[in-house]
Amino acid sequence: MRIAVAKEIEVCERRVALIPDMVARLVKQGLEVWVESGAGERSFFSDPAYEAAGATIISDSVKLWSEADILLKVSPPQEREDGRSEIELLKEGAVLVSFLNPLGNPVVAQQLANRKVTALSMEMIPRTTRAQSMDALSSQASLAGYKAVLIAAAALPKYFPMLTTAAGTIAPAKVFIMGAGVAGLQAIATARRLGAVVEAFDIRPAVKEEVQSLGAKFVEVKLEEETVAAGGYAKEISEASKQRTQEVVAEHVKNSDVVITTAQVPGRQAPRLVTEEMVAQMKPGSVIVDLAAEQGGNCACTEPGKDIVWNGVTIIGPINLPSSMPVHASQLYSKNVTSLIQLLINKEKALQVDFGDDIVDAACVTHAGEIRNQRVRDALQ
Ligand code: NAD
Repeated sequence: MRIAVAKEIEVCERRVALIPDMVARLVKQGLEVWVESGAGERSFFSDPAYEAAGATIISDSVKLWSEADILLKVSPPQEREDGRSEIELLKEGAVLVSFLNPLGNPVVAQQLANRKVTALSMEMIPRTTRAQSMDALSSQASLAGYKAVLIAAAALPKYFPMLTTAAGTIAPAKVFIMGAGVAGLQAIATARRLGAVVEAFDIRPAVKEEVQSLGAKFVEVKLEEETVAAGGYAKEISEASKQRTQEVVAEHVKNSDVVITTAQVPGRQAPRLVTEEMVAQMKPGSVIVDLAAEQGGNCACTEPGKDIVWNGVTIIGPINLPSSMPVHASQLYSKNVTSLIQLLINKEKALQVDFGDDIVDAACVTHAGEIRNQRVRDALQ
């Protein structure tokens, strides 16, 4: 069985789906691995390093795509420079493993179904204990949370830590993290390591202990509705709860030097947590980093992919932050993907897509010409 690693064509994608260490592991298992020439270039993994790990380097991308049994990617497939779509190049019955954004862009899922590709979406891996080693949303969100703090620290015209010097005492920066999921918790830990005083808020009350264990203060908002949906994800909350939340958090936003927002509700636009009025109350020189910029933004003033200054406040809306740390992002993603591949091969090292496995069942969005996932079908309507 042949596993192929494609070179990413998305301009802002620097990650690669498999690093040489993981190639070596798969080759040792008796699998054939093809790597497109230059696939690891932007994440500093060279063709010779892949060759040394046992991969065959393929320069012809059409050959690589069309002869793969399992094609590995990071970003969703897209149109190539020659006008052909990457999906068209896959053979019928091939397996594609990638981030596919099936709820945000279900058209790609439809195209994959039309091509009779078995597509496994890394976003749809369940957040269960058994699936932890495959959880690419977590591995990548953690990188984003870390980097968001570094970006904020670089943009803030102040120190983060408290300093006592001969020239006077510097007060520590006040950082407010909104959304304490994987990215938010890593942001808390990173801001604490840099010496900031950190507060955090989330509508899921269960995260309070985790926030406190990282040395941050949890900002509690008591809501009279259930805020947690299936799988432990946040639910979209009512207008009344949004209002109540905003009243509480406004004061914390106002008093912070840095606000980092990470709030998401799967399959929906990001919740609006920071209004224009709140930004207007912040001190000039303060910084907001909005990790939900691509999903519509948690802050009303965010412009995706841009750094803007609004009323003296710098608002940064980064896109694809994990790709800005491509070495470790690729290393972690690679481990996630390699763990998933183990579920797709049988003892004879042949491809076997077993829908009796809850992880394969949840992650597989298209198979045999059908979109298998009801939420993706609904998103197409
Ligand atoms: P996410 O990226 O979907 O959202 C980020 C955070 O935003 C979440 O904590 C969410 O509660 C919060 N949020 C949503 N709406 C909000 C609002 N209006 N105001 C404030 N905060 C809001 O989350 P995630 O990091 O992907 O984690 C989602 C769930 O998966 C969590 O329950 C997490 O504990 C769980 N998880 C489980 C595992 C595992 O068991 N293997 C691994 C990772 C994550």
